[in-house]
Amino acid sequence: MKPAPFDYVAPRTVAEAVDNLARHGDDARILAGGQSLVRLMNTRLATPAVIVDINRVEGLDGIAVENGSVRIGALARQRESELSTVVRAEVPLLAEAGAHVGHPSVRRRGTVVGSIAFADPSAELPAALLALDGEAVVAGPDGERTVAAADLFAGAFRTSLGPGELITAVHIPRGAGGRTGAAWVEVARRQGDLPVCGAGAVVTLDDAGAISSARIALCGVGDRPVRATEVEEALTGAHPAEDAITAAADRAARDLRPPSDAHGSAAFRRHLAVVMTRRSVQRAAERAQEGAVHA
Ligand SMILES: Cc1cc2nc3c(=O)[nH]c(=O)nc-3n(C[C@H](O)[C@H](O)[C@H](O)COP(=O)(O)OP(=O)(O)OC[C@H]3O[C@@H](n4cnc5c(N)ncnc54)[C@H](O)[C@@H]3O)c2cc1C
Repeated sequence: MKPAPFDYVAPRTVAEAVDNLARHGDDARILAGGQSLVRLMNTRLATPAVIVDINRVEGLDGIAVENGSVRIGALARQRESELSTVVRAEVPLLAEAGAHVGHPSVRRRGTVVGSIAFADPSAELPAALLALDGEAVVAGPDGERTVAAADLFAGAFRTSLGPGELITAVHIPRGAGGRTGAAWVEVARRQGDLPVCGAGAVVTLDDAGAISSARIALCGVGDRPVRATEVEEALTGAHPAEDAITAAADRAARDLRPPSDAHGSAAFRRHLAVVMTRRSVQRAAERAQEGAVHA
C-alpha cells in the first residue's frame, strides 16, 4: 500500500518545527529516521495530514558529554550511538541494548530519540533510558523543559509530550565509573525482532564488594518499560552471589501484568522477566567485579 496524501514541511530551526507542530496539532507527525512512522503510513495505520521532517533542523545532531551527562541529539542515529566511543565508555548499556535493535540498515536511519518517542513497550532503547535514569529535553510552545524517563512513558506508544512538543535530545548521567558494570539481555523470536522480553541492569559495587546501587528496567512486560524496583531494593547492600541475585530476581514479576499475544503468553513473559532480570544483574555484577565499565 501507499501512504494517504499528506503535506510535507522541512523546518530549519526548532522554533519553526514547534510552530508547525502547534499549528497542525494532532494532524501533524514528526519524521526523524522514518523506520517506524513510514511503515505505519504505508499500511495506513497512521494517516497524518502533515509531516514535519526534522532532519534539516540545526543543532539536533551529535553525541557529546555536556555538564556531567551524555547528550544524544534528536538526529543521532542508533548506529552512531552504538559505535560512539562516548556512549560505549560512559553509558555502555545504551550501546549494548542498541545493538539488538532491528538490523544495521534500520539502525543507520533510525534515531535513538525516535525510538524513545515512539514508546513501543517492547523496544530496547526506552527501557535502557529508564535504567540509566535519563531524561528527555523537550521543546514546545511554552519553551524548554526536561522530563525524566520515569515520567515520559505514558502507555503503549504514548508519551507525556504535549501538543506542539518535540524531544530535542536525551541526557543520560555519566557512568559512575569504578566498579560499575552494565548488561542488556533479551529473548527475541529471531535476530532483529523486537524482544518478547528484555532487561537492562546497571550495578555498582562498594569497596567491600557489596552492591551499593542496582538499576534495572524491563521491556515487553507491560504497556511501557518498567523499573524492577523491588529487585533493586533487595539487591542493595547484598553481595552479588548467585543465590542472592536469584532470590532478588524472583521478585521481578510480582507486580507485572504483561500482555498475551502471538509472541508469548502473559505467563511466559512473567517467567522471562525473572530470567532476564537474573541474567542481566549477574552479567552486570561480573563486569563490575572486573573493575571496568563494560564497553
Ligand atoms: C525491520 C525493522 C526492525 C525493527 N526492529 C526493532 C527492534 O528490534 N527494536 C526496536 O526498538 N525497534 C525496532 N524497529 C524500530 C526502529 O528502532 C525505529 O528506528 C524507531 O522505533 C523509530 O526511530 P525513527 O528515528 O525511525 O523514528 P520515526 O519512524 O521517524 O518516528 C517514530 C515516531 O516517533 C516520533 N518522533 C520521532 N522523533 C521525534 C522527536 N524528536 N520528538 C518527538 N517525537 C518524535 C514520530 O513522530 C513518530 O511518531 C525496527 C524497525 C524496522 C523497520
